[in-house]
Amino acid sequence: METTKEMKNPEERPVLVFATHNPNKAREVQQMLGEAYIIKTLTDIGCHEPIPETAETLEGNARIKAMHVVEQFGLDCFADDTGLEVDALNGKPGVRTARYAGEDADAAQNMAKLLDALGGTAQRSAQFRTSICLVRDGVIERVEGICKGRIADQRSGAEGFGYDPVFIPEGETRTFAEMDSAEKNAISHRGIAIRRMVETLLASQ
Ligand code: IMP
Repeated sequence: METTKEMKNPEERPVLVFATHNPNKAREVQQMLGEAYIIKTLTDIGCHEPIPETAETLEGNARIKAMHVVEQFGLDCFADDTGLEVDALNGKPGVRTARYAGEDADAAQNMAKLLDALGGTAQRSAQFRTSICLVRDGVIERVEGICKGRIADQRSGAEGFGYDPVFIPEGETRTFAEMDSAEKNAISHRGIAIRRMVETLLASQ
């Protein structure tokens, strides 16, 4: 196959591992980065063991995941961790967002617990926060993305995942679950954090 002068061979590009098993997440970052790096998932590098997320903060858990790859595989890596921080609940569920209603709780159970905890309170402000830990050549950088909003009184919409049906981003009347993925990515915590990280990576190329 003929390659243009500008195109780097895949072997020449530095590898950056995204500490996720989700190929869709990795593809999205790869598209944003162009040919500057080759993004590989945990599956791609043969990392199948569970990485225990035992930290008390999002930053801590992102760091545990990224450092696992750095230490066990000797590859540069980034990892993300996201939490929903509700003001009336003093920032909870925060680092426990995925398992708010219990270790094996599903999204419906988590949302039910959240709506129950808020009851009829009018103070419903909240934010999603994504913390990314990026490790290149042993140097650790932290990037963050925040999406402010509020918790709806009830669930609406069928798109997305997790708490999307109960989260209304600032300036909107619809929940995340009533938006398509492009619309959500443009304003979401994870979209903001990933774009910031991509800027950091491309700036130092
Ligand atoms: P993770 O760190 O990306 O695995 O996110 C932890 C948990 O936060 C998930 O299990 C979801 O419950 C919730 N979460 C993260 N991002 C979103 C989002 O964009 N919408 C709704 N829920 C989310």
